[in-house]
Amino acid sequence: MGLPWARIVTSLREYLESSPLPSVSQISRSTRTPFHILVSTMISLRTKDEVTLAASERLFGAAQTPAEMCSLSEDRVAELIYPAGFYRTKARSIRETSRLLMERHGGDVPAHIDALVALPGVGRKTANLVLGLGFGIEAICVDTHVHRIANRCGWVDSRNPDETERKLEEVLPRRHWIEINELLVAYGQRVCTPTSPRCSSCVIARQCERVGVERSR
Ligand code: SF4
Repeated sequence: MGLPWARIVTSLREYLESSPLPSVSQISRSTRTPFHILVSTMISLRTKDEVTLAASERLFGAAQTPAEMCSLSEDRVAELIYPAGFYRTKARSIRETSRLLMERHGGDVPAHIDALVALPGVGRKTANLVLGLGFGIEAICVDTHVHRIANRCGWVDSRNPDETERKLEEVLPRRHWIEINELLVAYGQRVCTPTSPRCSSCVIARQCERVGVERSR
């Protein structure tokens, strides 16, 4: 018998109802474009949600489209997204990605994984988030939280996020592919934390095998 996914997703949704959404999910809810989602996801890597949100707002206040982004200097982009982690590297990737979107895709963000991962600074995690939140295309964005929780619960047995993505695609119904990221990111920040997860108050404990959990609260 398969896992009770509808129950797992409902439990997570109910628990997280009053919690803030991850930064890129918040941006996707406010009538933003795939380009905004792509750029804010690039900014969000190794950066706190509140820093990502503020940096994205500043940057989009100065440039809304790939063409406008190209008109800003790399230093200016870096200045606008500071103090996001690796802001200089990200500024370079954002400008180069914007230039390539103009050159290869007529200024649009492509709705295809291969074209997305061919852009600088864009890996599968970012590409899948853009497909899901930007285009509504079913894709599983596996970041560190999704990878950790899916393995702890015993839903998959995988060594890296790419393998987790493939194995989750086999067990998770497609209707949950987009949503699972924001649920597990928020849950991983609050409950199923990297060290000492809060198992005693976990709403999905019955669907979790607690693989590799040695210490919990
Ligand atoms: S029971 Fe513990 S390890 Fe399992 S999902 Fe809940 S918090 Fe995470």
